[in-house]
Amino acid sequence: MSLIKSISKMKYTYLILSILILATSCSSDKSSKRIEGFDPMVYRASARVETLLSSMTLEEKIGEMTQITLEFMCQNNDEGERIEPHTLDSSKVSKVINEFKVGSILNCAGHSYSPEHWQELVTYIQEESIKSKGIPVLYGVDAIHGATYTKGAPLGPQQIALAATWDTSIVRNLSTETAKEVWGCGIPWNFSPVLDMGRDPRWPRFWETFGEDVKLVSDMGQSMVKGYQEGPMPFAATLKHFLGYSTPWSGKDRTPAYIPERQLREIFLPPFQKSVDAGALSVMINSGEINGIPTHINKFILTDLLRGEMGFEGVAVTDWEDIKYLFTRHKVAENYKDAIKLAIDAGIDMSMVPLDLTFPKLLKELVDEGMISEERINLSVRRILTMKEKLGLLEIDVDVTPPFIEETERNNAEELTLLAAKECITLLKNVNDVLPISDDKILVTGPTANSQNVLNGGWSGTWQGVNPAYNNPGRLTPLVALRQSISQVDFFDLKSMSFSSSDINNLISKIEKTKPSTVILFLGEMPYTEVVGNIDDLTLPENQLDLVKAVKSTGVNTVGVFIEGRPRTFDEIEPLLDGIVMAYLPGEFGGIAISEVLTGAFNPCGRLPFTWPKYPSSHVTYDRKYTENVHSDFSMNAFDPQYEFGFGLNYSPVITNSIKLNGGNQFYLGDDVSIEVELENIGERTSTEVIMLFSQDLVASITPSVDKLKAYQRVSLEPGEVKNVTLSFSSNDLGFINQNLKYVVEPGLFNLRVKDKYASISIIN
Ligand code: BGC
Repeated sequence: MSLIKSISKMKYTYLILSILILATSCSSDKSSKRIEGFDPMVYRASARVETLLSSMTLEEKIGEMTQITLEFMCQNNDEGERIEPHTLDSSKVSKVINEFKVGSILNCAGHSYSPEHWQELVTYIQEESIKSKGIPVLYGVDAIHGATYTKGAPLGPQQIALAATWDTSIVRNLSTETAKEVWGCGIPWNFSPVLDMGRDPRWPRFWETFGEDVKLVSDMGQSMVKGYQEGPMPFAATLKHFLGYSTPWSGKDRTPAYIPERQLREIFLPPFQKSVDAGALSVMINSGEINGIPTHINKFILTDLLRGEMGFEGVAVTDWEDIKYLFTRHKVAENYKDAIKLAIDAGIDMSMVPLDLTFPKLLKELVDEGMISEERINLSVRRILTMKEKLGLLEIDVDVTPPFIEETERNNAEELTLLAAKECITLLKNVNDVLPISDDKILVTGPTANSQNVLNGGWSGTWQGVNPAYNNPGRLTPLVALRQSISQVDFFDLKSMSFSSSDINNLISKIEKTKPSTVILFLGEMPYTEVVGNIDDLTLPENQLDLVKAVKSTGVNTVGVFIEGRPRTFDEIEPLLDGIVMAYLPGEFGGIAISEVLTGAFNPCGRLPFTWPKYPSSHVTYDRKYTENVHSDFSMNAFDPQYEFGFGLNYSPVITNSIKLNGGNQFYLGDDVSIEVELENIGERTSTEVIMLFSQDLVASITPSVDKLKAYQRVSLEPGEVKNVTLSFSSNDLGFINQNLKYVVEPGLFNLRVKDKYASISIIN
């Protein structure tokens, strides 16, 4: 295990006129922001920030609103390629920092670095920045499942996998570990979490979400924000991508979405609100368009909603190059300058430019020409400086040297990462107890059996996560992990995703010759990130369907393990698989985790955070409307997913014996509704169950959902144990957004459901 070495401590001493005055922080009262007549221009910063702001030139202020990628400042060779190891080009740094006074830098140039190299790069930039204008830059990075771009740092499950744990505390703890790693590189700002709703598995960023349910996404998101921001060092989260990014009509990334305001408020907004309330310091804007309006120019979303209603006071940063795209792709502006004006007017604070310096030039022109007021610039700079202040970057003696990370801390982080990988893995089918496999003759094959990149998915060492050169050494693929725990594991290498029918024939000959007792097929997807992951068909690729058919035709026990970021449909071959395991993108300890689940060393307990569609063209989320149950034969059985939201098995089943309301069945608005659930472990192993309580509004002025998740809890039961568990929620949570776009709880009758057990309650005014 490599130990992060502390580099020599370097103090940055710099003078900022007023900072000698110890400032009192005047954070404004959030509720006052929500009153009628909200003025978006009013923002009160600390005396320190105000004094600093008043000493800055317009160029310096505009520089603060500019974010440039590290890549732009690296040395290239004569062919224009970056030289390795990446080295800063002092003249480019000087142009960015000294000439343009740029206040924020992001990411790496293409691939991960050692902590020591990070510290070297960041330290140089900070020294230049402090010399140039007395303020360090705000460095941001995408460390979305562990420290993506830090060599040696453990890469954990991606968000979709974390959601499958239903374990908010492990999410919080892992996020704190990530913050420590990233801070250890000199970076205090993370572009994470993704709070977009994962309601359309065609969307290639589905795996970056916490799934389809508003409550689960909100809870997980808030835990991640707290993990980042409430750890041992100042560190900032970014809520992204605000708002309504995840359900483009075509299913393809950054294509138009059509979302009525009611749905926007009911489904997409709550996760952001919960994390804003937890104090998140920044948001990143949705790169797409909603109802024909690119979000980057949507004043209603960026100012009225985000600031006026939600009370967000932090920094709103654009997504990558998105102001430029307003005229190059979206065609809502004639040129770059118009695009900048539109975005600033809508409410953007900082532009992730990130590859040239035209933005600050044009923004300055707009201010000089009176098209944008300096007061408007001041507003954004106040927010940015306040964020820097909260991150300790405005201290008189800024110590940007990262803290020393002990090896034992790394070990803890690795253990936690492994545990999260185990907790996410979801057993979906287990006919005749084909799993766990006994120490038999096993044949492992399938395109995802022996790849570490597949386990990690995108944003791993590199943006697309496909280059094995940047994998941490020594991590085990599923094949290698299985070989370490089972004596007879044979392997047939299909080599890539594009294996052919003759490869399948060769495999079948091998099966016929060697006669294994069980074949484990590793299926799924290779890594992809963003647009690169667009697909035209949700169905599992045809060669994988053929593979399953051919293997099962030999009569052997067949187990399918999916390593993929979204539920690909596979109805045609589902009956052929005796055992099915969903591993999502479990991270670099996923190989061990999968092996422990398959061999029974770990009793699986993951639960799907999404509905797994049976057919590629008829996906409906669990919180569907009643009319979505109407079948072509007029029965109410149309909802027929492959697996329901929340589904998952254990090796030792836990059943729900009964549910009982605590304290009668009538509740006033604001009362806590509490229900006691009796569970029983009817198997022979300790099992962890996730109990989920759903509500059903029987009559409402807006068509109600069939089910809505209201509470959940992970519970561990010993073999044979009967346990009573109490779940509760506030009756205020039974509401929805009505026709006037207001959140209301309409009194009346509701059913509560845990598995197939029901109770009825009435809510009175
Ligand atoms: C992504 C963001 C990411 C940003 C910076 C964009 O392409 O949409 O999620 O934070 O790049 O890397």
